[in-house]
Amino acid sequence: MHDPNCIFCKIVRGEIPSRKVYEDDLIFAFHDISPIAPVHLLVIPKAHVSSLAETRDSDAAVLGRMMSEAGRLAREQGADDGFRLIVNTGRVGRQEVMHVHAHILGGPEPLGAMLPRPGA
Ligand code: AMP
Ligand code: ZN
Repeated sequence: MHDPNCIFCKIVRGEIPSRKVYEDDLIFAFHDISPIAPVHLLVIPKAHVSSLAETRDSDAAVLGRMMSEAGRLAREQGADDGFRLIVNTGRVGRQEVMHVHAHILGGPEPLGAMLPRPGA
């Protein structure tokens, strides 16, 4: 269920503080510690899943919940005119924290130059 060495598992369990915005039986959402957009949330499964490259059928419910709640969470934080949902995956996808997380990126203005590009 959880990996004792995983920073996001520790956040779910309250062992590391976070700015939580939402929690239910399956998912946990909080502000990214280094925001790259006016609204920058992370939505994660409460149970440890390392990467989108490692998911199974049994993860479908939690992955669906992450997406079905994203719009509401974005709007609640003020991103009421759209957002980007990004799941960095594996080495090529530049995933740094090996616990699945969706970045919700939004803000009052269209996002563009503020997003990192490969090689940047
Ligand atoms: P990624 O490159 O997709 O693995 O991004 C990991 C994200 O986790 C980065 O945007 C970090 O700023 C964020 N992050 C790392 N540690 C924390 C933390 N303790 N609380 C909130 N966000 C974090
Ligand atoms: Zn974890």
